[in-house]
Amino acid sequence: MNVLDNKAYLRKSLLRWFELNGRHSIPWKFKQDKTLPNFGESIPVYRIWIAEIMLQQTKLKVVLPYWYRWMKIFPSLLELVNADEQKVLIHWQGLGYYSRARRIKSSAKILFEKIGTENVLDPDSWPKNIEEWTELPGIGRSTAGSIISSAFDMPASILDGNVQRILSRLIASTEPLIKNKKQLWILSDKLLDKKYPRHFNQALMDLGAIVCTPRAPSCSICPWNSHCIAYASSDPTQFPVKEIRKSLPLNLIGIGIIFNADGEVLIDQRLNKGTLGGMWEFPGGKQEQNESIEITIAREIREELGIEVKVGEKLIALDHQYSNKKLHFVVHLCQWVSGEPQPLCSQKLLWVRPQDLSNFPFPAANTRIIAALHEYLCHKDA
Ligand code: SF4
Repeated sequence: MNVLDNKAYLRKSLLRWFELNGRHSIPWKFKQDKTLPNFGESIPVYRIWIAEIMLQQTKLKVVLPYWYRWMKIFPSLLELVNADEQKVLIHWQGLGYYSRARRIKSSAKILFEKIGTENVLDPDSWPKNIEEWTELPGIGRSTAGSIISSAFDMPASILDGNVQRILSRLIASTEPLIKNKKQLWILSDKLLDKKYPRHFNQALMDLGAIVCTPRAPSCSICPWNSHCIAYASSDPTQFPVKEIRKSLPLNLIGIGIIFNADGEVLIDQRLNKGTLGGMWEFPGGKQEQNESIEITIAREIREELGIEVKVGEKLIALDHQYSNKKLHFVVHLCQWVSGEPQPLCSQKLLWVRPQDLSNFPFPAANTRIIAALHEYLCHKDA
């Protein structure tokens, strides 16, 4: 059975399902006057673009409060272009993958140069083709397709994580997703309802979020169940087939919260290049073989800051996983002993009061360390 032989049925049944069950209150899908657009009508692109970047690797319900807050602080491209990068990073804090925020900032400049001051609020002055959007940092074909179809109701297909899952189940693909993108793109292109692309793409995303979920798809209420090969196979959760992954390497990281005599703590700002560039963190580094964690912390601080510290009690230990590695952080409280701190491996160092740490953008793992530090200080002062 070739599912594309039934594409007219698949489009119609999905759109009917979307009309009755889709998520129709997503705020960036409305026009400036808060009414829903007619078919083919443009809606503000800035709001959609920010939402689409926030939605990369993040669920809608998590994104919503961040998006509302962002729109208050940076209501248009103009405010974003003029904003300081540190402020942008602070308002991204908690969404993770900070490189997305830095790329938004650089894309804002490129877009602003294209569009010009007078036209920022006119959706029709914004780029309308995939090529122009994919030239921007951090925007791939699927994000570009989603922006164009949402903003202009133009026929551009998408293939985000939800859509990959639905389509690979629909055809019961025996290839893992990573090896099957080409076939799934062709399928997404051919299935797209070119008359109603905005609704069709949103319907696909909603189907993935509400019905064709990763672990427990509700096939009995799915509009595509009569044509879905994975459903016919009796265990749709076998699809997409998994890739056999090597286990991730584990690194042990010693971190020092260094206090001076005034009760301030020392933080450093990472170099702009590389992972988590421009973010602030507590100093520390990787444990070497046959080294105790206390020795690691003292050595890393000496190498990176040129100072001597006395390593004291443990504050917290926590795990954090990235796509390519697992980290186990062990955090100790330290007292500054001697030497003038220098940013030997970072771009800047600052002594800050613990209550001011929230004014700086920190990676997700560090925010848990800060919470533990505040708790420790509360108990100590009590
Ligand atoms: S029938 Fe089940 S597996 Fe197939 S698309 Fe629908 S929810 Fe997903």
